Amino acid sequence: MKALIFKGKDKIEWTETMEPVIIEPTDIIVKIEGFTFSHADYRPYLGQDDSVAPDTIMGHEGVGVITAVGGSVINLQVSDRVAIGCIIHCNICQWCLRKTFAKCVNGGFILGTKINGTHAEFVRIPYGDNSVIKISSAMNLADALMFSDVLPTGYENVIKKVDFRWCIWSS
Ligand SMILES: [Zn+2]
Ligand SMILES: [Zn+2]
Repeated sequence: MKALIFKGKDKIEWTETMEPVIIEPTDIIVKIEGFTFSHADYRPYLGQDDSVAPDTIMGHEGVGVITAVGGSVINLQVSDRVAIGCIIHCNICQWCLRKTFAKCVNGGFILGTKINGTHAEFVRIPYGDNSVIKISSAMNLADALMFSDVLPTGYENVIKKVDFRWCIWSS
């Protein structure tokens, strides 16, 4: 598949790489229909964030269709169209139980930083049941993409202390 790969400061490449596979039973694989860029994507590129390892696929925002589900995924199935949450969360750690999902010890802001992200033809999403929402196939792509990060983060930042499911950036 093709993916946008971070290669280090000032260097990204749209190039061929391995397709992701299910690793954990809670994983899903999503075929990306569209993705958006975020300020957080530019920080490693600009050399302002050295926590992202070279050869990581960039991006944490996207919409697509599920092509595979792990054995313990309950609420999703192949062919479901989903918006990917920018915050991966397990729903069982102490931070998730307090609904501070960005601090999830098993997830958090890891897409495109600690694990391969959404700027690719396919992406592996851990804790699929918690980390995506289903999107109607009738919704146009530009609108659907707003649900990945733009709308929830904007909503939280404008209306403080809102208990939004994805983007509680601080407790
Ligand atoms: Zn973002
Ligand atoms: Zn958690």
